[in-house]
Amino acid sequence: MSSSLLDLYGLTRAELGALVSGWEISPVHAARLWRYLYLDGATSWADLPELPARLRAKLETETTFGHLAITRETHSSDGFTRKYLLGLHDAHRIETVLMRFKGRTTACISSQVGCAMGCVFCATGQMGYTRHLTAGEIVSQAVHVDRVLRSTAVDAPALAEGDHVSPHHRHERLRNIVLMGMGEPLHNYDAVMKAVDILCDGTGMALGAKKITLSTVGVVPGIIRMTDEKRTMCLAVSLHGATQAERAALVPAARAWPLEALMEACRYYTEKMDRRIFFEWTLIEGKNDGPDQAHAVGALLKGMQAQVNLIPLNPTNGYTGAPSHTGAAKAFQEVLAGYGLPSTVRQRRGIDIGAGCGQLAVAEQA
Ligand code: SAH
Ligand code: SF4
Repeated sequence: MSSSLLDLYGLTRAELGALVSGWEISPVHAARLWRYLYLDGATSWADLPELPARLRAKLETETTFGHLAITRETHSSDGFTRKYLLGLHDAHRIETVLMRFKGRTTACISSQVGCAMGCVFCATGQMGYTRHLTAGEIVSQAVHVDRVLRSTAVDAPALAEGDHVSPHHRHERLRNIVLMGMGEPLHNYDAVMKAVDILCDGTGMALGAKKITLSTVGVVPGIIRMTDEKRTMCLAVSLHGATQAERAALVPAARAWPLEALMEACRYYTEKMDRRIFFEWTLIEGKNDGPDQAHAVGALLKGMQAQVNLIPLNPTNGYTGAPSHTGAAKAFQEVLAGYGLPSTVRQRRGIDIGAGCGQLAVAEQA
């Protein structure tokens, strides 16, 4: 499919309205089209009935939507995780993960093809950077996961309290997104934020901004801009080292945005937004999982609105480190607790299909 076509999933509701009224067609039809895209799970032009013939003709010749074809789909052995390899119009591929656990459904979506940040233990970093995703390609991943959920009938008893089921269709809807797939979201700030705004539109997918978590390697100007724009999604910052030297050895981007400047930006965020930050820490055996490092994290974050998410290293081909043992993770948590810092150890779901944190990489061109 040609990239010269306008992607409908990259348009805000106002932009879609302007497009349709620019063709001198009533805004009523733009509103209907928006509903087809986000509420009715349309997948082809045939799914857009009741639109005037002239609008359909314009749409079919000048626009496209939903063109992320599933190139490959893998399910984890525990049944909680599905990984999708999705094809873009220019033959590049990205990975999107659907996680379902305890009645909570989360899509892990990508923001770039590859990543320029080069974190040594990350499969996407090992690939290098190819290009940014457009807002439409980011939105389409969430729409894809929502469509998967639509195609799965849900029995009432299987739903946990608070789960959202559309009154019109008995199916689960996507409620949670983590921007933790391939890429560094704050390196692609404008497209990511536009996608978030589209997904949060109350008349469309209607996701809550607070149900979206953006994870960053620590792009300082991006954190400051998010704060100034009062972006209310959850913020996760990948720390991994508590001194500049230790961090830079794992996260080369720390040379551009040193630890001191990062912490200053994080404090600016927590104070101005009055919200906490989730600090992510990949636990690598014998490297950054000892009591000294735990005390250094404690001293660094003490007094901040912060929670530490510990992620035992997921294996990747390009890095020889090993994940920490449960005992080391527990001891790390106890030290953090002594500094008044809450922490969690992230469940290693989906690692058997390469869908765990930092394992996303397009291994083959289909
Ligand atoms: N680029 C963003 C988001 C994508 S990575 C970022 O770096 O924050 C999401 C999280 O997975 C980050 O905390 C990242 O450091 C971590 N991660 C990367 N590779 C990993 C691996 N092999 N094992 C465990 N966690 C990993
Ligand atoms: Fe990029 Fe995040 Fe991977 Fe680092 S961990 S290389 S920032 S995707």
